[in-house]
Amino acid sequence: MNTQPSESRKKRSARRAGEFPPPPEPLAVPVFDSHTHLDITVHEAGMPGGRAADPVEALITAAAKSGVDRLVQVGVDVASSRWGAELAARHPSVLATVALHPNEAPTLDDLDEALREIETLAAESRVRGLGETGLDTFRTGEAGRPAQERSFRAHIAIAKRYAKALVIHDRDAHQDVLRILDEEGAPDTVVLHCFSGDADFAAECVRRGYLLSFAGTVTFANAGDLRAAAVVTPPEQMLVETDAPYLTPVPYRGRPNASYLIPLTVRALAEVTGRDLDALCAAISANGERVFGSWR
Ligand SMILES: [Zn+2]
Repeated sequence: MNTQPSESRKKRSARRAGEFPPPPEPLAVPVFDSHTHLDITVHEAGMPGGRAADPVEALITAAAKSGVDRLVQVGVDVASSRWGAELAARHPSVLATVALHPNEAPTLDDLDEALREIETLAAESRVRGLGETGLDTFRTGEAGRPAQERSFRAHIAIAKRYAKALVIHDRDAHQDVLRILDEEGAPDTVVLHCFSGDADFAAECVRRGYLLSFAGTVTFANAGDLRAAAVVTPPEQMLVETDAPYLTPVPYRGRPNASYLIPLTVRALAEVTGRDLDALCAAISANGERVFGSWR
């Protein structure tokens, strides 16, 4: 299967060093990974345990053994979105979202043509969201901002036309993300992927009915604001994700991430929020079916 990433993706992501961490104790109540990049993981880090005939299948199987029995494969450009849509179409544990990443959109020669391709993919039945789209003022400079914003607005419109979830990448752009959602009118379902705000921003997103997806960053030592954000997020609006192969939770920072490590992050979320782990997993699982629809 084609897992070659685009040139831009290679540039965007430093190669992961080191081995995959050992599997954590499995979850008693299954949960799902709301945001993963299997194609990039395989390309950059291979698979846990070395070589396999089908490394993507091996990652999905490893996740299931950890109690992570479903996942959402997220697109970042036309090629990866098409790859994810094809995987979801034939794999019962996988749903897909499709999009041009906010740092990808400004680099394209023909943004409109790429958006048309994304819209075509968005119509597919196992494509359940538009993402990751949004704003990133950290990696994209002034010159790229107009294209980034135009792409975000176009993804919002597609999400509404097809009644699919909007999966937002927001890096250093909290207020602009909210402003554009207000200007365009938000879709019914909005997910803030790898939520990175503080308790105030979390409370505002909760008030708006958005879902906050917490990644391994919630386990980082310097992430007190993020843990405060988790505390004000009700279980009904909480998701958990890896963003694999990135953002590997403590104590394995610097090593590759994958969906089978979700138990580390969801256990940290239960601890930080003082909630029962099994109840939290059940709530997050139910949120997944509500936000992305059934995997079956
Ligand atoms: Zn991502």
